[in-house]
This record gives sequence, C-alpha cells and structure tokens, in this order.
Amino acid sequence: MTGGTSGLDDLDELYESIILDHYRNPRHTEPLEHPDVDVEANNPFCGDEIHIQLELDGDTVTGVSVSGRGCAISQSSASLLSEMLEDKNAADALEFVTLVRRMMRGDTLTEEEKDILGDVAALEGVKRFPVRIKCALLSWTALEDSLVNRAGT
Ligand code: ZN
Repeated sequence: MTGGTSGLDDLDELYESIILDHYRNPRHTEPLEHPDVDVEANNPFCGDEIHIQLELDGDTVTGVSVSGRGCAISQSSASLLSEMLEDKNAADALEFVTLVRRMMRGDTLTEEEKDILGDVAALEGVKRFPVRIKCALLSWTALEDSLVNRAGT
C-alpha cells in the first residue's frame, strides 16, 4: 500500500510513515478489565469512533486501552495518544493535550515543546487539512474531557 492510503499525500514522508504505522499496528488496544475511566467519542463528520479506557492509581495512569474505527488520522492519533499515556500522570496528560491542540491550531512551538511531543508531532501536517483536524483531535478531546470531569467529581 503506497500513496493515497491516508488520503494525505502531501504529508511529510517520515510523518506519514509514523501515522500509517500506528494506523496499521495500533498500540494498547487490549480492553481493560477494571477501568477507572471509560469514555467513547465519535466524529460524525467522518464516522470515526474512539473508545478510551484508563486505570488510575491516584493520579498516575497505570493502564490504558484505546480502540476504535475510522479513518487513518483518527485511529493513528488515538494510538499515539495511548503511547503518550505510558507512565504519565493525569496532570501531565492534560498538559500534553493542550500542547497537541496548540500544534493543530498552528501555534509556533518551541524546540522543547516539539521534543515533548515526540512522534505525536507527526500529526502536525494534518492542520493543513482543516476537515481532518477533528479526526486528529477526537481522542485527545475525549481524554481531556474524561480527566477534567473526573477531577471535578
Ligand atoms: Zn476521520
């Protein structure tokens, strides 16, 4: 499968390969038995569905499961999110989501911030495709909502 598989032929090749790798081999898809957070989200504009589960010990994320179906951008973004959550606490995860949203909005990020993003920076090129930004942010917004709501209860 080359060209056109992601519908984003103009993306940087390295970035596209990261996105396609996560799309084809999504990480952390095994459902959790006792999730503390369990949230589903969908993007009706594209038909994307995301299911996020977290196990938390206090504020530390001790287990993560992310699954779903939909376009390459939404699914690879969710898989990147699941990798990001490895050994993060809830506060760090929320800061990370803010960074992702700033990247997608086209804010200029510092080198340090780009380093923090790591592979997730592969999603940056998606901002040139406005209809795809919702796809890219679907799982991040769902994670943010679930963590914020959890903190509020
Ligand atoms: Zn989509």
